[in-house]
Amino acid sequence: MESSTTEKVNCLIIGSGPAGYTAAIYASRAGLNPVLYQGIQPGGQLTITTEVENYPGYPDGIQGPEMMVHFEKQAKRMGADIRYGLATKVDFSSQPYKVQIDDEKWMEANAVIISTGASAKWLGIESEQRLNGYGVSACAVCDGFFFKGKEVAIVGAGDTAAEEALYLSKICSHVHMIVRRGEMRASKIMQQRVLDTKNITVYWHSETDEVIGDKKVEAVRIKNNQTGSLKEIPVSAFFVAIGHQPNSDIFKDWIDMDEAGYIKTIPGSSKTNIEGVFASGDVQDKIYRQAVTAAGSGCMAALDAERYLSEKGLH
Ligand code: NDP
Repeated sequence: MESSTTEKVNCLIIGSGPAGYTAAIYASRAGLNPVLYQGIQPGGQLTITTEVENYPGYPDGIQGPEMMVHFEKQAKRMGADIRYGLATKVDFSSQPYKVQIDDEKWMEANAVIISTGASAKWLGIESEQRLNGYGVSACAVCDGFFFKGKEVAIVGAGDTAAEEALYLSKICSHVHMIVRRGEMRASKIMQQRVLDTKNITVYWHSETDEVIGDKKVEAVRIKNNQTGSLKEIPVSAFFVAIGHQPNSDIFKDWIDMDEAGYIKTIPGSSKTNIEGVFASGDVQDKIYRQAVTAAGSGCMAALDAERYLSEKGLH
């Protein structure tokens, strides 16, 4: 580790979703002078969603990306140092803790708040990977526009899939929704909206056999998992909306996690197994995963960090 590429800060926040920005707001106001690295997707998952109707304080709803601009502005106004950059490696063996940014510069911090969120899951079939970016996408809101007036398919049956199917139904001529069981996991209201939408067809008990196309998506072949029958549906795009996985890989040698990679925190706090390292937001929450719960846990992390630094005489 060369000293010329090392910077020391009091409180380092990794990630820029509702959790990271809220931690930055609270840590700034507490005088911790936080530095926040935004990661690969500044603003996090809300930047690839449409309307957010359930975040308190926005009675008319708000677009996800716009909401994250508000979060960032507020954190900056409070004095947080917000930077582009991806945490690529950590060394939590001793204080101050070390976090490498973009495989280059090392940051040293007395307290670290991990708010790295979660990322989209993929089916894991060859054709999905081969045609990724050529009609295969995990973000209807980002890429739906390119398939205006076309027929498209979406796989998944949670709130994300329902929300994205509805979004696509407004842009595309028809949406074919592939559901692996005989029911959806999505909330009742979202399911009803999907079923009430004329240009969405739901294929129950169906799995994706193959995404068909040479250079771009031309069709999807689905398999009924009860009868084994195959069906080919001509589509121009294939959207994957089957959930998320926590972005916790770089911490796995140091931080306790569950089998799915969600960081374990001490109940009722944001504390991890390492003193002075805190976790907030979707990287430690597989149950609620809402913007408002992430923001709440970001607040907890900043308060826990402040208390820790005070107790250590570092603040
Ligand atoms: P979920 O984990 O809730 O749902 C994933 C869906 O994908 C499930 O229906 C699952 O099927 C299906 N699935 C998983 N793997 C496969 C596979 N290999 N092949 C086919 N289907 C598969 O994830 P979401 O991203 O939808 O939602 C995450 C959380 O965020 C939830 O708590 C949700 O309520 C919340 N959310 C809330 C929104 C809102 O309030 N506006 C909007 C979006 C999300 P199965 O059911 O059979 O397991």
